[in-house]
Amino acid sequence: MSNGKSTLITGIGELVTNDGEPDDGRTEDGKQGAFAAISDAALVIAEGKVAWTGPAARAPAADAAVDAAGRAVLPGFADSHAHLVFAGERSGEFAARMAGRPYRAGGILVTVEATRAASDAVLRANLRRLASEMLRQGTTTFECKSGYGLTVPDEARGLALAAEVTPEVTYLGAHVVPPEFAADPAAYVDLVCGPMLAACAPSARWVDVFCEDGAFGADEAAAVLAAGRAAGLSTRVHANQLGPGPGVRVAAEAGAASADHCTFLTDDDVDTLVSTPVVATLLPGAEFGTRQPFPDARRLLDAGVTVALATDCNPGSSFTSSMAFCIALAVREMRMTTEEAVWSATAGGARALRRTDIGHLGVGARADLILLDAPSHAYLAYRPGVPQVAAVWQEGRLVAGTTTSNAA
Ligand SMILES: [Zn+2]
Repeated sequence: MSNGKSTLITGIGELVTNDGEPDDGRTEDGKQGAFAAISDAALVIAEGKVAWTGPAARAPAADAAVDAAGRAVLPGFADSHAHLVFAGERSGEFAARMAGRPYRAGGILVTVEATRAASDAVLRANLRRLASEMLRQGTTTFECKSGYGLTVPDEARGLALAAEVTPEVTYLGAHVVPPEFAADPAAYVDLVCGPMLAACAPSARWVDVFCEDGAFGADEAAAVLAAGRAAGLSTRVHANQLGPGPGVRVAAEAGAASADHCTFLTDDDVDTLVSTPVVATLLPGAEFGTRQPFPDARRLLDAGVTVALATDCNPGSSFTSSMAFCIALAVREMRMTTEEAVWSATAGGARALRRTDIGHLGVGARADLILLDAPSHAYLAYRPGVPQVAAVWQEGRLVAGTTTSNAA
């Protein structure tokens, strides 16, 4: 706790710790183990970290106590893929698409125009509203990309704004080629790899590229990632969303933390994901919002790929900030078990961000956790669309909701 006092949360019906025996041989990437849960558990928070977990009957004393009243406690969600710096909205495009018009990458330009025209204050207010919406729903860590500015000053300001709300800031100048470079896309790639990168790298931890037909090809994507690495950024890739393509291979060759979307994969792509540390981050909100086939999570999990779930929150293809919704889609539509989906939304997201301090509740982990208004993690998929996050702690501090049980 920020006041130096310890807090005991007891009466936990199910405590999801994700500190089980590793089953994938990849723990060198992080401290997250396999899905694991303790029933009738307790947890002690001290100095912003998890200080103890175990059976409630053996819990040590603490300065303050919270009774979970039989409800479940989980690690906070780690949403490793979100586009939150933008202005405007595209509900009309969504409605038209649901009425039969196909999604194309070009829709991004509508948001680019609105974002360029917006003041800092408008962008900041929108970003903070979304960040707070995420926190209330249990997302205690989120990644945030630029990519709706696509000029040097607009990308730099997007990243500076993102850095106000998260350390996981991603430079996505290579989101799409803006209209003013339509006749000379190579010149835009040079800008992204040169002056724009120089202006953006100080605010960013990551560099990303939309490797897709209609956006950037394999050679262009590789050049963007190489330039980003040379500027000290770590890499992630939008890969294989709209059709088969080189994205996963480009991600592996660049040593990326994550290949995101992975909706259309060949057997070679799956082999690549198995044989490299690249996390496959699945974004079912995008398939929901564009009425595309969902990625085949079962195929990836059965092959031994590390899978993360994230929202892809953005105003075009996936305007949801709800990790619980993504978990429900993953279980119902992508054949993930409830345990796998919750692991992927917490520990998986942490691995996709190369974070060892979050995504699990082992002793020493950051005390980022959620109290559900439900007795088990399964309720996240079992009761889709129902708000069930009762309380959220971030670094040991209660930042949203209340611990009072409604059951009495
Ligand atoms: Zn995205």
